[in-house]
Amino acid sequence: MSFEAKFPSECVGCDEGVKAGEVIAFATGGGVVHLVCPNPLPDVSRPVCPRCFQEQSVNGSCGCD
Ligand SMILES: [Zn+2]
Ligand SMILES: [Zn+2]
Repeated sequence: MSFEAKFPSECVGCDEGVKAGEVIAFATGGGVVHLVCPNPLPDVSRPVCPRCFQEQSVNGSCGCD
């Protein structure tokens, strides 16, 4: 489930902070992560959808939705 950030936060998937209004989701390990990180860390691997080749978010959604 993704939602708009109500206040600035830390993204667990990249070095960029989450700004209010950005679309984020709860990370499985805790914290929040951008639905699409602007600058993802190389060691954070997410499954890539075989159809749209977008990285799937922590809730499994992708560009096909
Ligand atoms: Zn991020
Ligand atoms: Zn897809």
